Amino acid sequence: MSSPPTGRTDEPVELDAVVIGAGFAGLYQLFRLRDRLGLTVMALEAADGIGGTWFWNRYPGARCDSESHVYWYTFSLELMREWEWSERYPGQAEILRYLNFVADKLALKRDIRFRTRVTSAHYDEAANRWHVRTETGETFIAKYLVTAVGCLSTANVPAIPGLEMFKGDWYHTGQWPHEGVDIAGKRVGMIGTGSTGIQAAPVIAAQAKHLTVFQRTANYSVPARNVPLTADFKQYVKDNAGEIRATTHQTYNGMGFRVEERNAVDTPPEERERIYEAAWERGGLQFRASFEDMLISKQANDTAADFIKSKIRSIVKDPKTAAVLSDIDHPYAAKRPPIDTNYFETYNRPNVTLVDVKAAPIRQISETGIRTDEAEYPVDIIVFATGFDAMTGPLLRMDIRGRGGIALKDVWEAGPRNYLGLQVAGFPNLFTITGPGSPSVLCNMPVAIEQHVDWITDCIDHMRAKGRERIEARAEAVEKWVTEVNEAAARTLLPLAKHSWYLGANIPGKPRVFMPYAGGLVRYREICHDVVARDYEGFALS
Ligand code: FAD
Ligand code: NAP
Repeated sequence: MSSPPTGRTDEPVELDAVVIGAGFAGLYQLFRLRDRLGLTVMALEAADGIGGTWFWNRYPGARCDSESHVYWYTFSLELMREWEWSERYPGQAEILRYLNFVADKLALKRDIRFRTRVTSAHYDEAANRWHVRTETGETFIAKYLVTAVGCLSTANVPAIPGLEMFKGDWYHTGQWPHEGVDIAGKRVGMIGTGSTGIQAAPVIAAQAKHLTVFQRTANYSVPARNVPLTADFKQYVKDNAGEIRATTHQTYNGMGFRVEERNAVDTPPEERERIYEAAWERGGLQFRASFEDMLISKQANDTAADFIKSKIRSIVKDPKTAAVLSDIDHPYAAKRPPIDTNYFETYNRPNVTLVDVKAAPIRQISETGIRTDEAEYPVDIIVFATGFDAMTGPLLRMDIRGRGGIALKDVWEAGPRNYLGLQVAGFPNLFTITGPGSPSVLCNMPVAIEQHVDWITDCIDHMRAKGRERIEARAEAVEKWVTEVNEAAARTLLPLAKHSWYLGANIPGKPRVFMPYAGGLVRYREICHDVVARDYEGFALS
């Protein structure tokens, strides 16, 4: 194993590979390329620590919705047995501790350059090298470039007029200050009711003088039922690490549970109700696995949607607030379904107000508050729980140019186009971990990340063994894959959520294209495997 030289700002650093990002994906890719293939590699990371999502998202209540025993690396049974989670769903701080534990154990930090934001990556065709430039003026030159920039790492602060005049403090949840925010005694206005807003509201409400939640699209949520893990369960995880890993490789979305093989539409109403009630009591994302037709039949989905809406109306005491919260316009789980701890109950607190900004949109931020078409709401702090420029955002923020100087932003002008979510035609030796067109965000992500990293590592290993210098997706393979991604989405109810970030609909001007591959991780894994078995079908190796 060799280590790369340390860079100086005035002299390019030459490496075998550059990895951009040091979250779950970048850490594992760095480890595999360095320790398995023996390449000189450096990971370049904008933050001043590892962790990605869990470095940045420190908002009150930030927590996983994958269960802890599946939200981790599974490539090493030893690591799985050594680490012990404390809760059913780990919180942000615990996940960050876990990733630091892994990074320290594998001695990864010495090959990560922190506070190093990549601004451009240009392919030099003659030399077959990527020239990667950073905000700090450094240049790294490498044969292979792997992006591990995350799907949800580009914060979206909506352009609401007047924000610059606001005299109070404002924060985006994905860029939360590390020293925390003193909310006690403050009037807080929170915009957004996605997974983040739904997690944050109860915790903010418990500390703030008053919380005003600005809801545009009403959302479903199912109780998480978080609990500390028992000693027995912790032992079960150690004893069954191999089986847990195997299960996550066999389930549709890399979770630890299987979708029940029964249809909601064929189940008698009382029996269906009993099943939903038990799933509600058990809590968690498993609710959507209650029936296998839930995401493909609108009629089936309506039964789940009606069940949750009636729960909202039974929990929330004020009928008007309950009506606004349960006026949901999309099928259940067509957007990433949130899970919560006392979210709907929070609206029964005297210090919490819900504002329906679908009925009366936010017009302006004033010096002292948030103004809608109907009223002005005075606040001391604004929390933007407004999500991310997802999936393509982190890639397109960099100036990535392939053969002949062609820009990725031009190739993707009408939406992302690639092969298997892994490679773009015209961009040799560039790999995109959990790129659009792969199952990524529809999964328990560490499982999807490991599959991509292993595939990329095997591919580079294969190239070296065969003396190949370049790999590039063929244009016709891209064409077919884009069709496959669209067809997979069309077989589900997912595209029916018109305001979803899966479709890019949360960002003004972004092309409306369903971005992740909805055919499931098992099928996707098979496709990737078959492509290799057919000698990298769809790729040109030279
Ligand atoms: P990230 O963790 O996003 O890391 C990407 C890194 O790249 C970041 O550190 C970023 O700073 C860096 N970077 C980006 N651009 C550049 C650049 N130009 N130059 C240098 N560095 C750059 N997934 C689940 O499966 N289950 C969950 O329960 C779950 N909960 C989540 C909760 C929140 C609040 C959020 C936001 C996401 C959640 N996710 C969850 C998705 C989560 O993003 C993934 O699980 C996983 O952490 C992604 O890892 P990653 O390494 O691919 O990306
Ligand atoms: P999100 O799902 O995109 O939700 C953003 C919210 O902000 C939506 O309610 C949106 O309304 C609203 N919004 C955006 N712009 C607005 C504007 N100009 N005016 C009013 N409202 C506006 O973002 P997120 O909640 O941060 O979640 C993103 C993803 O991160 C999740 O889907 C999930 O994958 C992951 N995540 C997971 C967890 C977890 O539990 N583990 C927690 C947080 C995040 P519209 O719907 O009308 O656009």
